Amino acid sequence: MTYIHQTILKLQHTSPAQTEFYQAVEEVLNSLRPILENDENYRHHAIIERLVEPERQIMFRVPWVNDLGEIQVNKGYRIEFNSALGPYKGGLRFHPSVNASIIKFLGFEQVFKNALTGLPIGGGKGGANFDPKGKSDGEIMRFCQSFMNEMYRHIGPTTDVPAGDIGVGAREIGYMFGQYKRLTGRYEGVLTGKSLLWGGSLARKEATGYGCAYFAQYMLEAKGDSLAGKRCLVSGAGNVAIYTIEKLYQLGARPITCSDSSGTLYHAEGINLDTLKDLKEVRKARLDNYLAPHPGAKFIPVSEYPDDGHAVWRIPGDLAFPCATQNELGAADAVELLSNGCIAVTEGANMPTSQDAVDLFRDARICFGPGKAANAGGVSVSQLEMAQNASMQTWSFDEVDRKLKAIMSRIYQNASETAREFGKPHDLVLGANIAGFRRVADAMIEQGVV
Ligand code: NAP
Repeated sequence: MTYIHQTILKLQHTSPAQTEFYQAVEEVLNSLRPILENDENYRHHAIIERLVEPERQIMFRVPWVNDLGEIQVNKGYRIEFNSALGPYKGGLRFHPSVNASIIKFLGFEQVFKNALTGLPIGGGKGGANFDPKGKSDGEIMRFCQSFMNEMYRHIGPTTDVPAGDIGVGAREIGYMFGQYKRLTGRYEGVLTGKSLLWGGSLARKEATGYGCAYFAQYMLEAKGDSLAGKRCLVSGAGNVAIYTIEKLYQLGARPITCSDSSGTLYHAEGINLDTLKDLKEVRKARLDNYLAPHPGAKFIPVSEYPDDGHAVWRIPGDLAFPCATQNELGAADAVELLSNGCIAVTEGANMPTSQDAVDLFRDARICFGPGKAANAGGVSVSQLEMAQNASMQTWSFDEVDRKLKAIMSRIYQNASETAREFGKPHDLVLGANIAGFRRVADAMIEQGVV
């Protein structure tokens, strides 16, 4: 039995029933095979065994009272995965599907992603199985305050700095920051994704989506191609999807789809960004409302999705950008994308592509930008927000965007040069995983057995 296989079996035994977490670990460990097999040092220092075990896992009760005066109870999590490179950094997700497996997979991925940015940040993730949909503003505030009543003991500007993720935007960050300040009496950069009025960074909201589009641009340029005129299939209609679409337009591409948990929207002439922002950022409405001002568009409800996948990937397009959630692009979707001539997939979401679909893209030799690299723009600008808070400076939108673009270019170069070094120049999954791993692992060795 190989070392990697043994590690995975042990993990399944000690952390039972955490499917998404095993999936993330297997994907990373399998691509580390070339480096682990050639370098005894990592094995000697038990780096893999230490990397798959979070430094600390905090699980807590989040009691709150709804508008009817009824007591509700949710489960809260903060998984502080690895601090070899800096304070734990990673978002908070509020979604009914949240459980320990999801948060651990996200935290594990975050360690490698953050290492790949080259910035001084460790990896963590958190959240709650709370569904913000349909809740009043007062309910959201009371939930966020209760969540922070426990979390404030574990976080701080030099220990753990959470940000947003699915279901956590500027409003939720505001309520959590307010409660942190009330509990501790300190006004400090303990959360990122803050409002521009009180410590947020310009371009943080846009960063993940913009970074994702830049990453696609770098992959295509390396093949002598460009984004100009490309039809882009985007899934999701949240923060990442909206700003991926915005930057794709700026770079000359034509985004023709988006989706939410009710269905998929297809607009062949190009998604109208103003309408989309109004629906999702202002009115918080369902995507089918887009049809009233744009009768030429088509809405496919979830009930009409193919049995073996997602309607968005069955629409012909040149480039795919999964930007909603994990495992939203499976093998049957990949087959359809390839047969429709798709030449690049860039992951805006975390682990949106199943392993068998990634294998199909790799075998077909199309460009594949793994989330760890392609969606690292968000956490990178979060770190820039921390830097601005610590130095009491405010940088302009253009300055942050310029820095973001340079970071995404560095990430792309790092992943592709590492892939080349290991004899697999097309394999950015391998390149990103090994490049991130080396930085964390070498730091862990230098810091001793802690
Ligand atoms: P968001 O603003 O909450 O938007 C999420 C979008 O995905 C919504 O349109 C949502 O539809 C859809 N969605 C979520 N779960 C779904 C499901 N199970 N089935 C179908 N649709 C679903 O979240 P986000 O910040 O854009 O995050 C999207 C992805 O990017 C996540 O994987 C996240 O971890 C990753 N990511 C985010 C950042 C960041 O800076 N925000 C950074 C790196 C990676 P409904 O509204 O209908 O639920």
